[in-house]
Amino acid sequence: MSDVKRKIGIMGGTFDPIHIGHLVTAEAVRIEYGLDKVLFIPSANPPHKQHSQVTPAIHRYIMTVMATYSNSHFYVSPIEIERPGLSYTIDTVLALIEQYGDKTEFYFITGADAVQDLPTWRNIDHLLDLCYFIAATRPGCICSLDHVIKNFGMKGRQRIQRLPTPELEISSTDIRERVRQGRSIKYIVPESVESYILKEGLYIR
Ligand code: NAP
Repeated sequence: MSDVKRKIGIMGGTFDPIHIGHLVTAEAVRIEYGLDKVLFIPSANPPHKQHSQVTPAIHRYIMTVMATYSNSHFYVSPIEIERPGLSYTIDTVLALIEQYGDKTEFYFITGADAVQDLPTWRNIDHLLDLCYFIAATRPGCICSLDHVIKNFGMKGRQRIQRLPTPELEISSTDIRERVRQGRSIKYIVPESVESYILKEGLYIR
């Protein structure tokens, strides 16, 4: 029997909307860590965003599918959209282990600002046993990851890794603001996503 483990990236995010920065980051992690594939998982009800306005999950899911379609290593999973209740990452990773088997290594890729809050995530100790965290750091991000890594001791040093991502100068917040102000989002999001946003009238108010 082969001991070679399959490596899967989990690109978790709200993706409101998905943009070029997310795609470049996922591809960079895929190559750097030799991942077999990257699963994009739009969150349905992020636990830390219960009081903020998030675009309906179906729009975010469709845009993510359109944006990733041309990369043969990228897939989109509706797992969090189909699961009722809040979108806890521990539930998602446990479901993926059941699906792919425990011979798989998982790499959870997300923004460094989100990783900064890891100590508050549900069952975080167990989650760190189950997957690596790749923290994509935006230029100018003053995220104190050292503190978080130290907080988890040896496990933190082994499981949480940084990836500088200049492309993350782009942000979903900035894109929503541009649309609201009638400014161009061309080349910041894939063409299909731009057309979808304009056709569906997303982010106008
Ligand atoms: P967020 O607070 O919207 O984003 C934090 C920062 O990270 C933003 O600057 C965001 O930029 C960036 N970012 C988000 N996803 C990214 C990705 N995949 N790659 C690179 N940058 C990314 O965070 P979020 O999107 O809601 O949450 C991130 C992930 O963590 C989700 O999968 C969420 O379910 C999970 N999470 C889980 C728990 C929990 O289990 N308790 C708690 C919090 C978050 P953009 O706005 O440009 O994307």
